[in-house]
Amino acid sequence: MSNHPSFDTSAVHAGQVPDPTTQSRAVPLYRTSSFTFKSVDHASRLFALQELGNIYSRLGNPTNEVLEARVSSLEGGSASISVSSGTAAIFNTIINIAKAGDEIVSAANLYGGTYTMFDGILPDFGIVTRFADVRDPASIERAISPKTRLIFTETIGNPSLDVADITAISRIAKKYHLPLVVDGTFTTPALLRSIEHGADIVINSLTKWMGGHGTAIGGIVTDAGSFDWTDKKFELYNRPEPTYHGLHWATDLPGDLGKVSFAIRFRTVPLRNLGACLAPDNAWLFLQGLETLHLRMPRHCENALAVALYLEGHSKVAWVRYPGLERDPSYSIAVRDLKAGYGGMVVFGVQGGREAGARFIEGLHLFSHLANVGDAKSLALHPSSTSHSQLSDEQQKAAGLPPDLVRLSIGVEGQADILADLETALAKA
Ligand SMILES: *Cc1c(COP(=O)(O)O)cnc(C)c1O
Repeated sequence: MSNHPSFDTSAVHAGQVPDPTTQSRAVPLYRTSSFTFKSVDHASRLFALQELGNIYSRLGNPTNEVLEARVSSLEGGSASISVSSGTAAIFNTIINIAKAGDEIVSAANLYGGTYTMFDGILPDFGIVTRFADVRDPASIERAISPKTRLIFTETIGNPSLDVADITAISRIAKKYHLPLVVDGTFTTPALLRSIEHGADIVINSLTKWMGGHGTAIGGIVTDAGSFDWTDKKFELYNRPEPTYHGLHWATDLPGDLGKVSFAIRFRTVPLRNLGACLAPDNAWLFLQGLETLHLRMPRHCENALAVALYLEGHSKVAWVRYPGLERDPSYSIAVRDLKAGYGGMVVFGVQGGREAGARFIEGLHLFSHLANVGDAKSLALHPSSTSHSQLSDEQQKAAGLPPDLVRLSIGVEGQADILADLETALAKA
C-alpha cells in the first residue's frame, strides 16, 4: 500500500494486515475476555501504561483495535476508542472533559437521546448545558462562560437537518480555548472529515451509516490529537490522577501518547471503570460495513436528493428540508463543505399535519416504519410521536421539530422503487 492511501483504500484496509499467526486475510474475531501476560514484569508494565497491550476486553480487544485504527484513518484522527453505543460515546466524552460545576455549550438541534442526556440527565451530575442556535454561531459564542469546558454540535442536526458551519464554530472554540466535539453520525467521514474543519473530537454512532446494515449498536470516539489540555481549567487533566499514582494527564504521558491524552484517559478512566465497552462481535460487524462505506454513501446521497426533489414538486407536501436543495437554508454551507453529497436523510411535512403524516406512514410498503437511520433499507418515522416524544411541545420546538415532520432515511434500493412507494403513500395521506 502507498504511504497515503485514498479514503476508499483505507475503508477496506486501514488498521489490518493478514494475521501473522494464522495468515487469516479477514479480520479475526477475537472472542476472548482476557489475554495472558508474558511475565510478571510484562503485566506490571501494561498496568502502569509503560507499555500498551491487551489486558482485558473491557479496555481493548484486537478486533476492536482494527476498527479503531480504521476509523482514525478515515476521520484523519490520531486515536479512536470504540464503545457500546453512540450514546455511550457522547456521555463518556462529556465526562472525560467536564465535571460537576462545569458547563458545556451545545447546538439545540440534537438527536432526541442526546438532548435528553444534556437537558435532563447531566444536570443531576452537576454539569449544565447552555443551548445555542447552530444556524447562528454568534449565539454559541454568547453561551460561553468561564465555566464552559467544551462545545458540542452535530454535523447535520437532528431532526431539522441544519448543517453546522464547523469552520466558524471551530474559530470560536479556538478563541476561548475549548475543545470542539462534533457528532458526525449523519455525514460519516465519507461526506465530511470534521477534523479537517477544526473539530478536536469526533463521535460517530456506528449503528447508522458506518455499520450500514442495521445489525448492531455501537459508537466510536476519535481524538484529533491536536488539543492542548494543559490549561488549568481542564481540572481532570491537571490534577494528580488517584487511579494512576498521581499522574497528570495533560503533562505526564510519555512521547506520542501525550498528543492523545484525551483518548488515553477515555480508555483508562471512564471505559475501564464504567464499562461501556463494545463487544468484539459487533466491532467485527462494523468492519464489514466500513469496507463499503465509500460505495454506499454516494448511493444514499443520490437517492435522497432524488426523493427531496420529488417531494419538493408534490402538491401534498407542505415543506421539505434537504441540505442539497437550492432553496434550503443550509444549502450554501452544504455546497461548501459536503463535496461528496448531502447525506441520506430527508425530512418533510405532509399537507394536513399530524394526522395526514400518520396516514402517510401507514401507506408505506417498501419503507420500514421504525426508529433507526442509516440502514441500507429505506426507513420512515414520525419523531414527534416516537423518538422525541419524551420532550415537551416547548422542547420539541426548541429542537426544531414541527408536529407534522416525517423523517425519511433513504436506503440504497432502486430509485424508481423508492419514489413509487412514496407516490402510493402520499396518495393515501
Ligand atoms: C443514533 C444517533 C446517536 C446515538 O447512537 P446509538 O448508537 O443509537 O446510541 C447519536 N447521535 C446521532 C446523530 C444519532 O443518529
